[in-house]
Amino acid sequence: MTSAALDVLRRVFGYAAFRGEQEAIIGRITGGGDALVLMPTGAGKSLCYQIPALLRTGTAIVVSPLIALMQDQVAALRQLGVEAEFLNSSQDAATQREVERRLDASELKLLYVAPERLLTERCLDQLARAQVSLFAIDEAHCVSQWGHDFRPEYRALTILHERFPGIPRIALTATADAPTRREIVERLNLGDARQFISSFDRPNILYRVVEKDNSRSQLADFLSGHAGESGIVYCLSRKKVEETAAWLVVQGINALPYHAGMDAAARTLNQQRFLREDGIVMTATIAFGMGIDKPDVRFVAHLDLPKSLEGYYQETGRAGRDGLPAEAWLCYGLGDVVALHRFIAQSESSEERKRVERAKLDALLAYAETIGCRRQRLLAYFGETFAAPCGNCDNCTNPPLSFDGSVLAQKALSCVFRSGQRYGVGHLVNILRGEDDERVHALGHDVLSTFGVGAELDARQWRSVFRQLVAMNLLATDADGYGVLRLTEASRGVLRGDVPVTLRRPADRSERRTARKSQRGERTRQSLQIAPHETALWESLRATRADLAREQGVPAYVIFHDATLLQMLRERPQTLDGIGAISGVGAAKLARYGEVFLGVLTAAAPAVHA
Ligand code: ADP
Ligand code: ZN
Repeated sequence: MTSAALDVLRRVFGYAAFRGEQEAIIGRITGGGDALVLMPTGAGKSLCYQIPALLRTGTAIVVSPLIALMQDQVAALRQLGVEAEFLNSSQDAATQREVERRLDASELKLLYVAPERLLTERCLDQLARAQVSLFAIDEAHCVSQWGHDFRPEYRALTILHERFPGIPRIALTATADAPTRREIVERLNLGDARQFISSFDRPNILYRVVEKDNSRSQLADFLSGHAGESGIVYCLSRKKVEETAAWLVVQGINALPYHAGMDAAARTLNQQRFLREDGIVMTATIAFGMGIDKPDVRFVAHLDLPKSLEGYYQETGRAGRDGLPAEAWLCYGLGDVVALHRFIAQSESSEERKRVERAKLDALLAYAETIGCRRQRLLAYFGETFAAPCGNCDNCTNPPLSFDGSVLAQKALSCVFRSGQRYGVGHLVNILRGEDDERVHALGHDVLSTFGVGAELDARQWRSVFRQLVAMNLLATDADGYGVLRLTEASRGVLRGDVPVTLRRPADRSERRTARKSQRGERTRQSLQIAPHETALWESLRATRADLAREQGVPAYVIFHDATLLQMLRERPQTLDGIGAISGVGAAKLARYGEVFLGVLTAAAPAVHA
């Protein structure tokens, strides 16, 4: 026996089975209860309200903060044969009236509305007249002042509970931390809602951290492993976004900039292009990304250190929503840490807030410098235990060697101490290595007992040691943010020799060269690993999809996701039924596109199964 929900999943969406808690959530809402859903990006939150919307009588009202993205969400539903519309200020009056008429006439299963619109008396009156099946509050963390996307209008959404007490509400977010969750429950009056909290693991994302050396050429190397793929490169400042995008374009990469300082029209245009065209590299500040539900973002690269692990998790979470392999790559150096400390020190925030921000930065550093599994670190930060090392991060696939670094740590710390806790890492390394350096001589640091005691490591290796000591809180970067390193409470135990220090063995120059070469070898392989003999068919499938998308003015993924095309490529069905059996091909899409894709597939030779 199949349930009504499963039937809809198969017939409308073309998927074989529910994932995780989707079925329980759908049951709860369809049955008239409230729910709070915390699921990572890409886990399938939309179905949790879209299927109840199709099962219940009336129109589901979806509150979504991002006007620019509503259109694509509605387009995707229409492709599935679902009656959906949106209402926002970007539409002309006549269009708005037509949507309102359709709402009144009960013609709609889903209506997407921006919160400020929903809260108008006019809209609330209309909803009171219409038959509303449920309220879905997407990106529910926007009610939280604690979180990073606070939207004052979201606060007023409690009115839904007061004005429409009998109608089920479902609030959804991919933000994992407990304070935000508590605030959502409180602010949206969801005390009686059942909470569905999933694991926040994103198994298909490969996590990698590299030490910053020459970040541009490192980025170019990284991107050459993702040629033709869509991805995001995050930078800290607007200026760096502009410069990096321009430089990438010169390198022949299809890059676009995005930051809050650009004028709104240019920004929207770039966002639209990223969503609609294949293979664009969006170079952006963190102003970019919320609500971007492009499923085929294959990588998220950070050229600068993000401010917190929550932020990093959110930003990298935009990769691989379709479940196919994706990569999160972070390139950082001690300079980033210094810059962020300066940022915090110079901000207008209260001392208390600054303390919180410093603690968040520390957690991020610990992640970047860990010698253990990155996924375990990341999930532990969200209070989740991930039992075994993941096998899909750089430290798992290529375990760093660790060693007893107590003596090196003592040398570094005592060098900081003897030179008066007034210098940055560059100068300290010069002292340790006994460099014939003008400033070292001028300051008389060539007579310190630590002068030249560290010749066994090269400068890069020393910098790695210093970074690790900062990450372990054995050194602190000065709050003024000039890169000055100072001892901490914890340094004393190490200096006395009471506390051992385990360090990751920093690679020497020849090892670094070998590593770079082997990475380059790997790089000819793209995320989706299309084999040479598959390339021609893959390209015709993508071209067919691109033509259909262009004709209709929708993003390519609205026609079919990469995962669906990939399954076609691998299985090469030769009948319409065969196409209908592919995941992501529901009844409406089979009727619309089945023949066209069948044509492409039958023109190619059938797959040879070993
Ligand atoms: P979220 O909003 O949680 O980030 P989405 O709702 O966009 O995630 O879903 C992510 C992707 O997973 C989409 O491509 C969606 O179609 C797909 N998906 C969701 N549920 C299922 C399922 N049960 N089976 C197969 N694919 C699914
Ligand atoms: Zn791992």
